[in-house]
Order: sequence, then structure tokens, then C-alpha cells
Amino acid sequence: MNFTNLPQLVDMRGKLKSKGTYSKRTKAITHRVWHHSLTKKNLAGSDAASFADYHVGTLGWPGCGYALVIEPKNLIDTPNGKRARIVYSNDINNRTYHVGDSNQFSLGICVAGDYRYDTMDEATLASIAELHAALVKDGIGQYDKAHNEMPGYSWKACCEYNYREAFDWKGAKTPTKPAPAPDVYTIQEGDTLWSIAHKDGTGGVQVADLIKANPGINPTKLKIGQKINFGIAKDFVAKPGNVIKPDIKVEVTPKAIVPYPGIVLKEGAKGMKEVDIKRVQRASGMAEKDVDGKYGPKTTKVVKAYQKRHGLSQDGRVGPDTWNRMF
Ligand SMILES: [Zn+2]
Repeated sequence: MNFTNLPQLVDMRGKLKSKGTYSKRTKAITHRVWHHSLTKKNLAGSDAASFADYHVGTLGWPGCGYALVIEPKNLIDTPNGKRARIVYSNDINNRTYHVGDSNQFSLGICVAGDYRYDTMDEATLASIAELHAALVKDGIGQYDKAHNEMPGYSWKACCEYNYREAFDWKGAKTPTKPAPAPDVYTIQEGDTLWSIAHKDGTGGVQVADLIKANPGINPTKLKIGQKINFGIAKDFVAKPGNVIKPDIKVEVTPKAIVPYPGIVLKEGAKGMKEVDIKRVQRASGMAEKDVDGKYGPKTTKVVKAYQKRHGLSQDGRVGPDTWNRMF
């Protein structure tokens, strides 16, 4: 195939984090759907491997949600000049999660970056143009769409770059204004409150907003077709400064949001609950055989290691910062 022969393409199928596999498509690919990652393009986490970690570890998906990821921070020297690396992350015949009910017939292509603020560089534009041309030649898909041109997603701030101009390789940053967030959102395949809020949401909606706006729902048991309220959430407007931080490295599962117990958990503290300590032990990655609900030196040690991994101050105690990062 032409696209797999691009010199800047690296085949990482089967090599990125996964948990199970996506099923095969039941429909042929008709749409090539263009995304951005909403993480600044130069950040360490703006690459296919980090997206896979986030999609599997935090969203609970089987693998990276995109078939192809273009990484502006990783430049490849090709006979034609410098190019942004293209990672082939999921076989195109697999139905990955990226546009809900349209996944079956849509190929997900993500350009790493937050193009509300980032500008496109030549090496990235070249990779978009060459990948697009190769896919067209290969007969993969008939239509190009931005994420927010797909049914149900008009409110998404995705993709925020002018993909059509990029195909001609002279594009520049020309953000399209997303439609206002709907009052009511209908859950589609692969959606979690985390994916709606964090990935390419309205740019500022937090999970907490969605929970506040939907007191009756169980965030871990969303059903396809279920309607959730955007009410409070959509009033939260993203401004530079309160833009959600890329959280692709956060190692929490969307199974629980556990309220902070109200006291600092540490060795010798009074009034700690065993169940909270067990949560902390598991979240810190303690071996299951050592999870005992007692805050001893072993727990201090794993908590310190957790804090180190997440850039928190390493005191071995679990106060609100560490707790909220864990849960
Ligand atoms: Zn998107």
C-alpha cells in the first residue's frame, strides 16, 4: 500500500499499550476523520504511545483510538526533506473509538497538537498532505471530515486546523469555531465522561462539571443512546490559563471518583479507614499480596514512588493533591 510505504511512517501496530483488541469493521471505510489531540505539540506526552496509554489506562478502551497519529515533535529525515513522524498505531481494518456511532466506517487520524494555540509547521503539513494523497491512492475512504463535522459532534473543538488546506500543503492555522455545546448530549460508542470532557471536548468542560450537571447518572455505567445534561458544563468557558491540562499520563481508571477522605493519610495517623488505605495502595501500584489496608513503611515507599512519577512532592503522605491525582 502507498501509505505504509511513506518513509516517515513507523508501523507500531501491536506495540502500543492495549487491553484486548478492537473488533474488525463491519462496514468499509468511507470517511477519513481528522482530529487533533488537544495536547500542545511539543509536550512529552504528544505522541501515539502516550495517547494509547491514556485511551487504555484512563478511558478503558481496547487500544489507541486512532489508526494513524502524526507526531510533529518527532522529525524524520526523508529523501524529500524533514517530515513529522506518522505512527501506524492500529490496523485500519479495526474499528477504533474516535467518532462514536460512526466508528464502523471512519478512519481516525490524529495530528498531535492543540491547534487552538499551536501553529502548523512545514514538516507536519507535508506529512498530512502525503498521508492524505497516499490514502486516496490506496482507495481508503472517500470523504474527508473533521471530527466536528461528524454526526453528533458539531460542538467538539476538533480538529481546529484547516485539513483541506493542509492537503494542498500550504495551509495555516485557521481554527473553525465549534458550535456551542448542546444542552443534552447523547452517549455514543466508546464515550466516557472523561473522553467527553478531556479529550477533544468543548475545550474547558471538566468531568466534575458533567457530574454536577447530571446528579442522577452513574459515570461508570453510561449506555449508548443515554442522554446526559451539558447544562452547567457548557457555561464553563475555556480561556488561556484555565485550559485543561493534558492529563494523558494520569494513571487513574474511570471506574471511580472517590471523594478525599478529609484527613491526610500517613503512617501513624488516627482515624484512617482501611478501605481508603487499600485504595491508595492499589493506586500506587503495590503488589496485590501486599495490599493490607495498613499504612506502614511499605505504603510510604510506594506512595513516594507514585509521587515521583507524577511530579508531586515526595513526602510519602496522601493529602488532597496526591489523592486527587490518584482518583
Ligand atoms: Zn477529535
